[in-house]
Amino acid sequence: SLAAGADAVSGRVRVAVRLRPQNVEELEADADFADCVELQPELKRLKLRKNNWDSDTYEFDEVLTEYASQKRVYEVVAKPVVESVLEGYNGTVMAYGQTGTGKTYTLGRLGDEDTSARGIMVRSLEDIFSNLFQQTDSVTVSYLQLYMETIQDLLNPANDNISIVEDQKTGDVSLPGATVVEIRDQQSFLELLRIGEAHRFAANTKLNTESSRSHAILMVQVRRSVFGRETEFTSEHDGSANGVNNFKPPIIRKGKLVVVDLAGSERIHKSGSEGHTLVEAKSINLSLSALGKCINALAEHSAHVPVRDSKLTRLLKDSFGGTSRTSLVITIGPSPRHRAETASTILFGQRAM
Ligand code: ADP
Ligand code: MG
Repeated sequence: SLAAGADAVSGRVRVAVRLRPQNVEELEADADFADCVELQPELKRLKLRKNNWDSDTYEFDEVLTEYASQKRVYEVVAKPVVESVLEGYNGTVMAYGQTGTGKTYTLGRLGDEDTSARGIMVRSLEDIFSNLFQQTDSVTVSYLQLYMETIQDLLNPANDNISIVEDQKTGDVSLPGATVVEIRDQQSFLELLRIGEAHRFAANTKLNTESSRSHAILMVQVRRSVFGRETEFTSEHDGSANGVNNFKPPIIRKGKLVVVDLAGSERIHKSGSEGHTLVEAKSINLSLSALGKCINALAEHSAHVPVRDSKLTRLLKDSFGGTSRTSLVITIGPSPRHRAETASTILFGQRAM
């Protein structure tokens, strides 16, 4: 893998793996079996057991054990992305993995009763707010669900088919139909997330589907005025001029943070599914494999990133550029019963590096 710092230039995707702790069922059911994975966080390695005496070893940018706190996960996975968004770049944080492995826990937890449980979305906004100092600085939020190649507005359920528009000149992606809410503080952001979750639940009940079958997408636009150091220094060091004449207008930094809680990556067995479930599964496979191709292209420094194949990748197009940062956390469970799904999640993560 590349040296630290090089990823900002190349647009390389940083990949972390996070292991969910054993749950109660697993504690009982797997009591006689060894976990199928073993983590070596200091070495940033993961071992996936093949059988009793043999395992495959994989390296990641970060290996987060079942003991990793939400705070640490934020710092490792999202903080560098948030920092570059504050500097005016685009950044993306995504969670990929089988349903039940902790994607929503990692990204979307509100931590109402216990603030230490707050996930990446809430911590990102907290970090953003603590870096805004000017009256004109602003944060706007949109919250969407992408289901079966249709984008729905989680802040206004009446907008149930939002289109993606791409600026021909700048390549910037926008969603003209989506609700954009300006928020002033953390409290109103939490309120917005709650409303979004309620709408998501209602929409999915109506469509008779699970939230794990769709992608949840949070888009945050940050606009900051940054006063350059030169403004102060020039008046001090240049005796011929005074501060007023040398006043430089602030630099406007506009960055976009996109947080994507991806649909469950599990393969729906074709034999067991039919009708709606099968169409749904095909649609998820389409968008996740399109995403996989795009991040492989980034990893290989390919000049061509194939974003056209799905709405998900079209939506993320301006996050796949040279100055954008992308962070992927793959989530896995410890159970040997899910070894095949875990192996396929690990493979997805490895291909992104
Ligand atoms: P996903 O979104 O991938 O389907 P969830 O985030 O809903 O998975 O997690 C499934 C269950 O596991 C939830 O009950 C969640 O609270 C729990 N869980 C997930 N990750 C962790 C973790 N790191 N520590 C403790 N509990 C976790
Ligand atoms: Mg989830």
